[in-house]
Amino acid sequence: MKIFNQLKDHIGLVPNPISDKTRQIHARINDASMSISVCPYCAVGCSQLVYTKDGKIIDIEGNYESPINGGTLCPKGAATWGLLHSPTRITTVKYRAPYSDHWEERSLDWAMERIAQRVKQTRDAHYEERDEHGMTVNRTLAIGHFGGATLDNEENYLIKKLFTAGLGIVAVENQARI
Ligand code: SF4
Repeated sequence: MKIFNQLKDHIGLVPNPISDKTRQIHARINDASMSISVCPYCAVGCSQLVYTKDGKIIDIEGNYESPINGGTLCPKGAATWGLLHSPTRITTVKYRAPYSDHWEERSLDWAMERIAQRVKQTRDAHYEERDEHGMTVNRTLAIGHFGGATLDNEENYLIKKLFTAGLGIVAVENQARI
């Protein structure tokens, strides 16, 4: 101890050698709000902690209190933040006309109207009340739906209700987490 004190006096060592700059460093989620959510990607349903500051999501991590994932996320779930903030994320409607070699930008209203018209036209042309054996089928095999895993339970419920029961579409596929 005597040697330590001599050394301390000699080089100006203080008992708690932390600089003011280091003291001011803190985690970026320090004063953020936290909400509990579920990873949107797959059927495992890992729980996530979503941190927001000034109305913006600043970080997403695994929920350590979840019995499913215990604070962990797989590489895909750990990249959820990128789903929102990636500069390559497409946020506008892209349209490629038949036989065209490039995409064009369209408004959402234009796309919704066109999809509605095409669905109606195709369903009217191909709707079958009975199959070749005379069985009642009330279906169309001319339209299909392919969904993604980021659709949530409520969206999948509505898709199934509208497309299958409402329009008679048989080919409804999705990587749903339900
Ligand atoms: S973190 Fe990975 S395993 Fe968990 S729900 Fe998301 S994609 Fe599935």
